[in-house]
Amino acid sequence: MIKTLVLLGATGDLAGRFLLPALAALRAADRLPDDFRVVAAAREDLDDQAFQRTAAERLERHAPEVPAAARADLIRSVRYRRTELTDPASVGSLLSGVRQPVAVYLALPPGLYTAVVTALGSTGLPAGSRIALEKPFGEDLDSAMALNRLLDRVTHSAGEQAVFRVDHILGLPTVQNLLALRLANRVLEPVWNSRHIEQIDILWEEDLGLEGRAGYFDRSGTLRDVMQNHMLQVLSLIAMDLPTRLDEQALRDRKLDALCSVRPLRLDEAASRTRRARYTAGRLSDPAGGAGRAVPAYRDEDGVDAARGTETFAEIVLDLDSERWSGTRFLLRAGKALHRRRKQVTFRFRPAEHPSAHSAPANELRIGLDGPEDLALHLTGGVSLNPPSWAPVTLAAAPPAADLPAYGRVLLDVLSGGSTLSVRRDEAEAAWRVMTPVLAAWNAGLVPLEGYAAGSAGPP
Ligand code: NAP
Repeated sequence: MIKTLVLLGATGDLAGRFLLPALAALRAADRLPDDFRVVAAAREDLDDQAFQRTAAERLERHAPEVPAAARADLIRSVRYRRTELTDPASVGSLLSGVRQPVAVYLALPPGLYTAVVTALGSTGLPAGSRIALEKPFGEDLDSAMALNRLLDRVTHSAGEQAVFRVDHILGLPTVQNLLALRLANRVLEPVWNSRHIEQIDILWEEDLGLEGRAGYFDRSGTLRDVMQNHMLQVLSLIAMDLPTRLDEQALRDRKLDALCSVRPLRLDEAASRTRRARYTAGRLSDPAGGAGRAVPAYRDEDGVDAARGTETFAEIVLDLDSERWSGTRFLLRAGKALHRRRKQVTFRFRPAEHPSAHSAPANELRIGLDGPEDLALHLTGGVSLNPPSWAPVTLAAAPPAADLPAYGRVLLDVLSGGSTLSVRRDEAEAAWRVMTPVLAAWNAGLVPLEGYAAGSAGPP
């Protein structure tokens, strides 16, 4: 197991809200080596004590459930180095003296990846090291392919063993459960196809707006932020044929097949199959039932360049050319500043076939991915048959309990040399092959940018 994590971007939001808390959870679960250490780097001028103090505060806020002793233990293993990460000399001095394999985690604005990976290449990393990169991986097919070639050069073609493309949702227990449900339940596989399922909705709805993250989001937009990565990963887990083995190669081969079966949209289909929108001024709902919070229009948020036309909402309907899924619509819908938070997959079954049951509501299976939504199978029963009087019957269960946070599983995979939770090079490129034509159509102005009030259900 790799014993040193070099955390680039250690003062950032991801590091404070997810990575340090996940490491503390791993420490508490005794899943890290005793001599594990973190080398934290960013531009801010801090010494070890100052960074440790801030890190301790962030753990208190974001990982209060982790015992204080484990948090303190982790903090003691952290050192901070002020570093200009695009400067090879500065990166060189950060890594000077490193002899054992390290995991270098890029918790950085994606626009820096090329410069930082190049700087890592000119410094050189000990054999057996890994580079982990956050999503989004590239901003279109060409840039993702160029980044893959650069990583290949820098890692001396060590391939997937040396590169980890992070998509943390693969570590969510609910997402793992998607596959477990398919593998372990005989009742599901026979109906898991277009003969029985009419439409699958993959929803990624957020009830928060920009929250001060214009620097990242305004250059990215909803499609690059969540659709190209998280949502296509979910699609591939749903749509793939089951692998014969659960090893990283077989699993990712099947996911790749599913992604490659998605029919890329033609330019002339974009207007009827995609929507993009951004929020106007409104009021975000308060989960505690209060009056909510007023937010300005996206275009007026601090740091936003309104002329860029960045979307905060997107919807795409895809078809898959495969024996299993030809004839099922896959609808991907994601947005910020909506009236509710809901990350969920809904399987809409075709109507019952019996001639007397045509008026019965069709079945739905809902699988919540993140948040309060549960696993629910909506069936239809009835108390009288002539005339039919249908009654909903819902079988529901709580989502599986998590033993580790999603980022805990991801970091374990990174440190232990696993790749199950890493998006393979060809998967990342196949996902861009699906999304790049949509971006091209949007850039060509073929799909108007609609508006929706913040706090609403999205564009009408
Ligand atoms: P962020 O809050 O803007 O943090 C970026 C970090 O990079 C800061 O520590 C910043 O420190 C450092 N940095 C920027 N330029 C630098 C430079 N030239 N040299 C050295 N350090 C530099 O961004 P974030 O939200 O953490 O996101 C990081 C990555 O995680 C992104 O790829 C994002 O897509 C991904 N991600 C984020 C979240 C999330 O919830 N935040 C979730 C999933 C994925 P200084 O300003 O001190 O230099």
